[in-house]
Order: sequence, then C-alpha cells, then structure tokens
Amino acid sequence: MRDMGNNETATVEDNLWQRTAGEDAAWPVLEEERQANIAVIGGGYTGLSAALHLAERGQEVVLLEAGGIGEGASGRNGGQVIPGLKQDPEAVERIWGPGAGRRAVAFSGAAPDLLFALIDRHAIGCHAQRGGWLQPAASPRHLPLLRRRILQWREHGAELSLLSRSETAERLGTDAYHGALFDPRGGSLHPLEYARGLAAAAAASGARIFCRSPVRTVQRSGDGWRLVTRRGVLRCGTLVCCTNAYSGPPIPAIDRCILPVWSVQVATAPQPAAIRGRILRDGVCASDTRRLLTYFRFDPAGRFVIGGRGAFTSRGRAGAFAALRRRALALFPGLEPSWRYAWGGLVALTENHLPQLASPEPGLHLAFGYNGRGVAMATAVGRVLADRLGGAEPADLPLPVVRRPRFWPHASLLRWSLPLAGPVSGWAERLRAAGRRRAGG
Ligand SMILES: Cc1cc2nc3c(=O)[nH]c(=O)nc-3n(C[C@H](O)[C@H](O)[C@H](O)COP(=O)(O)OP(=O)(O)OC[C@H]3O[C@@H](n4cnc5c(N)ncnc54)[C@H](O)[C@@H]3O)c2cc1C
Repeated sequence: MRDMGNNETATVEDNLWQRTAGEDAAWPVLEEERQANIAVIGGGYTGLSAALHLAERGQEVVLLEAGGIGEGASGRNGGQVIPGLKQDPEAVERIWGPGAGRRAVAFSGAAPDLLFALIDRHAIGCHAQRGGWLQPAASPRHLPLLRRRILQWREHGAELSLLSRSETAERLGTDAYHGALFDPRGGSLHPLEYARGLAAAAAASGARIFCRSPVRTVQRSGDGWRLVTRRGVLRCGTLVCCTNAYSGPPIPAIDRCILPVWSVQVATAPQPAAIRGRILRDGVCASDTRRLLTYFRFDPAGRFVIGGRGAFTSRGRAGAFAALRRRALALFPGLEPSWRYAWGGLVALTENHLPQLASPEPGLHLAFGYNGRGVAMATAVGRVLADRLGGAEPADLPLPVVRRPRFWPHASLLRWSLPLAGPVSGWAERLRAAGRRRAGG
C-alpha cells in the first residue's frame, strides 16, 4: 500500500482509502450510442455486486458510474463489515411481518458470509479480515439494550456475547465503555480496494463498465429505457438504479425516499507497534452505542481511523474533523496524534431504518437505504437484484420487494433542518455534561 500522507495536520479533505488503494483499471467513458439488456446505474457495492452476479449468470449488463468506481459511499466508508440491519431482529419482524422479517434477519446476519465468500471466490485483494465487530456501550443505560439485542440474535442461531466492562477495556484499550456486544461474524476491509475488486470481477465475468459517465436523463423508450450520459446514450430493456445517498433528480424516486446525512472520518499515520499492541487488539473494529455514533478501527497498515456524524458545509465538516480528533485522544490518550487524513461521505437513511427494494414499473428496479450498514448488506442486495432479474418471485427472495418505494414525506424538510441538528445536539450534550458535573456525577 502506498502512503502519500504528509506531516501536516489534515485540514482539507483527503480520503485515506483513495490515497492507499492501488491503481484502478482505466475504465472507459461511454462515448457513443450503445444497447444492453440490463443497465445498472451506480458503481458502488450494490451496483457492482448486481452487475457481477448478473454477468455470472450470462446476462448482458452495462454499468454506468458518474465518477470513478467507489466514488460514493463505497469508496469512503469505515470498512467495517457489520452483520444485520440497523433495526434489531424483533423490530424487523414487527415491521415486515413474522415470515418476511425472519427471512430478512437471517439473510442480513449471513451477509458477511456472502461478502467474505465473494472476496475469496474472486481473490479480491482488499485486506479483508474477520476479527469480529464490537458495539461498546457508551453509557451503563445502554447495557440492557445490548443484552436484548444479543438474546434476539441468539434466537436466530448467532453466537453473540456480552463482554464485561473489564473485558471491553482489555479488547479496546480504553476504559471509556461500560461493556460491549461482540459479534464474531463481523470484520473489516479496505473499502475502495473492495469496490475496485468487485468491478474487476464483474468485468472479468462479462459486465461492461463505464466511469465518468453520469446519467443526465432517464427516458422511457418503447418497452425499455434510454439513458443519456454526458457523452453517450445507452438503450436498455431493464434499468437497475443503485445510486443510494448520491441519487439526484434523473434517478427515479430514490431521493424522495431517503435522507442523505454526512458521516466523516479522520486517520493518523501508522501507529507505533507498542500502541497497536495495546488498543483494538486482534483486528477488532467497533461502532459504539451513541445516538450519533463513533466508530473506529486500524487500517491494514496500522493507521488509526475514527468516524462519526458530519456536517453539511465544508466549514462544519472541518469542525467535525477537529471534534473527532479530540474524541480519539479522549478515548485513547496514548495514541500518537499524527493526523494525516480527513474525509466524508453520504449515508442514506430511510424512515423505518430498513433498506428498500422496489420495482415501481415494469423494467425498473431500485435498491437503497442501508442506514450506515451497507458494506455487507449492499453486496448481498446486489445478489438479490440479480436473482430478481433472473426471474425469482418476490416471495422467494430473502428481502421484501415492494411496488412503490416508501416515500419519506418529511425528508425534504429534514434536509433543511439537519444542518442545525449537529450544533443543537452538541449543545445538548455539553449542557447534559455540565449538569452531570454540577450534580457530581
Ligand atoms: C463515511 C461513511 C462511513 C460508513 N461506514 C460504514 C461501515 O463502516 N460499515 C458499513 O456497513 N457501512 C458503512 N457505510 C455505509 C456504506 O458505505 C453504504 O451503505 C454502501 O457503500 C452503499 O453502497 P451503494 O452501492 O448502495 O451506494 P454508493 O456506494 O454510494 O454508490 C452510488 C453510486 O452511484 C453513483 N451515481 C449517482 N448518481 C449517478 C448518475 N446519475 N449516473 C451515474 N452514477 C451515479 C455515485 O457516483 C456513486 O458512486 C458508511 C458510509 C459512509 C458515507
């Protein structure tokens, strides 16, 4: 891996994964008019996995990406492979009903198996490791929630466990947490190398990939579709939109069903071996139980990476980067503060915190809304899309496919108010802390 970091504290956005991934293939731009049975829009995990699985089944598929492979969340995320959905198993069964909910829970719990098997099958070099995932409790009040979560997953046969406060301190190397859920199904990878590896595997299986080819208009044309990109046109029978939080107006409906929110990360230079031996032992990665959660891990070269909720403006994000660096040192005072990288990306939230698969009209398929849990799930959903396009009935799929995607009527209002949510929640947190100090707590 290359390390192109410098010695300055990063104030401009500089994505660690872009800096350390090997060269990508020289994907062409769509220049002329082409035809395909299936067009996939979006070169993130959902679109790439869909294209790969479709091509493996002999389908003629073309993928169009506005920027480079992994331009969106798939090249910017924390690289934590987290099993399950944002909602707990019982909530999933309540929302989707006992049958569909149970199938979805089982499928989401097995999504890391699917991802790691795919990486093995296509020999994708992305520093994948399966050291498990920790969810440490930021407050003693969060422990009952973790206990319930563990019991619910055990009913589905998953061997989750609750670490005591001292075991958590031992694993993480900080005594800031009150216990932790340990899920051995989880792990980590280099997110951009993984996306590029999926693209290479899809192309090797026969998919044609065009980058720097943003779709500007989507029009009905006979039984199919006519997609106009910056420099070309693609006609297709079936259209699959996998643009998630980066969906704009040309993509039918998705942007009215999600709330895109910023998540930001900062990373250091490689930490000395002595520090790496003390914190986040055995390659474990973690996302805590705070409402605006903090997540952290080492990258494959031992750089400490920490992330959390970001802000909408670049000035606001600079503040979020500084806050993350402070939080890192508060959690791990021994860390070397050699900050090199800072970047962010958009997470797609849905109203019920569950992903959506929709087929709103013949020949149109949408998949989106992983609520910050997309490394494994988006990969797995790509395969579900391929099954669906291969003729599987909705009832035979492990996730519900609806005709109408679930609109989020308040999402546009929230888009306006969200820029205030960060500062307001920061003030509220400071007020609560001041109250606790006054009360001697
Ligand atoms: C900072 C951050 C940290 C995260 N951390 C984690 C984590 O640790 N673990 C986890 O499980 N999940 C995490 N997530 C969520 C995860 O990254 C996403 O759920 C997942 O990558 C979604 O993949 P996707 O393919 O659906 O969307 P994306 O990867 O966002 O891909 C959508 C693509 O569509 C393209 N596109 C949009 N419009 C057009 C158009 N008109 N024409 C052509 N192309 C277009 C975009 O350029 C983009 O590349 C994180 C997300 C962020 C932002």
